[in-house]
Amino acid sequence: MIVVMKMGAPKSSVESVVNRIEDLGGQAHIVQGTERTVIGVIGDQRTLNPQTLEALADVEKVVPILHPFKLSSRDFKPERTVISIEDVKIGGDEVVVMAGPCAVESEEQLWETAQGVKKAGAKVLRGGAFKPRTSPYSFQGLGFEGLRLLRKVADELEMLVVTEVISPEMVPLVAEYADILQVGTRNMSNHSLLRVVGQAQRPVLLKRGMMATIEEFLMAAEYILTHDNYQVMLCERGIRTFETFTRNTLDISAIPALHELSHLPVIVDPSHGTGKAFLVEYASRAAIAAGADGLMVEVHPHPEEALSDGAQSLRPEDFASMMGDLKRVAMAVGRVL
Ligand code: PEP
Ligand code: MN
Repeated sequence: MIVVMKMGAPKSSVESVVNRIEDLGGQAHIVQGTERTVIGVIGDQRTLNPQTLEALADVEKVVPILHPFKLSSRDFKPERTVISIEDVKIGGDEVVVMAGPCAVESEEQLWETAQGVKKAGAKVLRGGAFKPRTSPYSFQGLGFEGLRLLRKVADELEMLVVTEVISPEMVPLVAEYADILQVGTRNMSNHSLLRVVGQAQRPVLLKRGMMATIEEFLMAAEYILTHDNYQVMLCERGIRTFETFTRNTLDISAIPALHELSHLPVIVDPSHGTGKAFLVEYASRAAIAAGADGLMVEVHPHPEEALSDGAQSLRPEDFASMMGDLKRVAMAVGRVL
């Protein structure tokens, strides 16, 4: 449930409510809205009686949250969350584009890609240093060297870095080099990883599990939010269906559905979502039209030589021409790109 404080309620009243919730064995999560403070209450509903809390000073009302996800729900926080990282705002008017290779392979490959995508308007450099590959025989990434190269190239080009973290013990190291921690589809339900990522207090890009429902996806986000890390982006990257022509089926309807249910920004990955380079632009247009707050796109200077995901990677020049077209789509739906 949520406790909605009266407009202008003093800090001392908020503290009393928090203390009462904690005395009753619950957890309190405070969200300071523009007009009023809202306190999310997590815990055993049998001991946390709404009437007890309603009677406290400066409490306007106590409202139940019917969804199983609480802190990520719009009932808890009606205004959309905007995540600010340096001068980039994710979840505002701008559609933020993250682009780069599937995996960092070498300094030249990363540099060539990064320069191309930056020039075309990407704000965030993506690239895998630690790759969660389906096969243990596939390229596993450059590891630490990949992290170092991402930071170096992104700093030279004034870009942000998003890269995947695949295990809890690696979170501090990856957080030292990346601006956004990516949790991949294979780890969406890795609760120990989600907890540590929540504690890291860093922006997180959480990818939808390839077999996860929207509710399961939001429950995964909840693991991060319960550590009072609200800087979570939800990334739709396609789900498994019976279709085999595409690598995954990009769930376009998940974009407005997530916005309806949650205040968190929604990013779309049209590369893993389709698995085919020629589909990436169509999927990106659809994603922006459906309200995506950002895109994450795989780009490689020589896709035919890529060590991973070449088939779905765009050449920098094709990425640039796509960005031109996407600007117009964004404008048509009242966004900027
Ligand atoms: C990636 O973005 O590099 C990646 C591995 O994606 P996913 O976890 O969606 O497969
Ligand atoms: Mn990939």
